[in-house]
Amino acid sequence: FIEIKDLKKIYGNHEVLKGIDLEVERHQVVSLIGASGSGKSTLLRCLNALETINGGQISIDGDVVSGPGVDQNRLRRKVGMVFQSFNLFPHLSVEENIMAGPMRLLGESREAARDQARALLDRVQLGHRAAYYPDQLSGGQQQRVAIVRAIAMRPEALLLDEITSALDPELVAEVLNIVRDLAQDGMTMFLATHEMQFAREVSDMVVFLEQGRLLEKGPPEQIFGNPTEPRTRQFLKQII
Ligand code: ATP
Ligand code: MG
Repeated sequence: FIEIKDLKKIYGNHEVLKGIDLEVERHQVVSLIGASGSGKSTLLRCLNALETINGGQISIDGDVVSGPGVDQNRLRRKVGMVFQSFNLFPHLSVEENIMAGPMRLLGESREAARDQARALLDRVQLGHRAAYYPDQLSGGQQQRVAIVRAIAMRPEALLLDEITSALDPELVAEVLNIVRDLAQDGMTMFLATHEMQFAREVSDMVVFLEQGRLLEKGPPEQIFGNPTEPRTRQFLKQII
């Protein structure tokens, strides 16, 4: 479904992604793990066309969506992204945050966009916060809004970059529960995460990156239980 071939990204003279190959099926949940600076966020940003790539290609459903001469907006439209820092529009209410994309980019009417926003907010137990502004919500609540804002665009895949890292520990669970629900609904997801326990539980595939290379990938039981590469083993020993 999503095919990444020999993907390269260079900043200045630093090659940050050194030829990543990865194929992901529809409905799969893929966790990206690896040390700080290994390239997890960069890979996600390339998958959402927030970065232009310097080599290789990305295709979705057989369509090449990244590379020379390709309209980047097509990729952005197909893939949603949620960040560590929520990035909600501060001057819009919760509900308006969710309505903005569908109205502007999908041409939905205000009524349809509002109905959808309310249904999504109910789904994440935030129906009673529709008229609030982002700064009136807890971090966990803001992150739940950010996730449903991405979902409102009906993406074919969702990219989640350390979405619990900025949260107090007691708020992490409510955000992870939503990710778990989305996984159960069959949303294709890529998550960069330091939450190894969660990655183990929710992913179909775990990918270990080291210095811009994909060193090892496999089902969570294998990567966490019996990794092939000594470097994977060492990384996991350090952080668990
Ligand atoms: P972390 O776990 O800390 O989030 P990461 O695996 O997400 O790390 P990236 O943010 O992808 O790592 O960074 C990979 C490398 O690319 C790092 O060496 C970083 O310094 C470099 N890098 C990232 N963004 C830029 C940029 N805009 N300009 C130059 N170098 C960058
Ligand atoms: Mg990162």
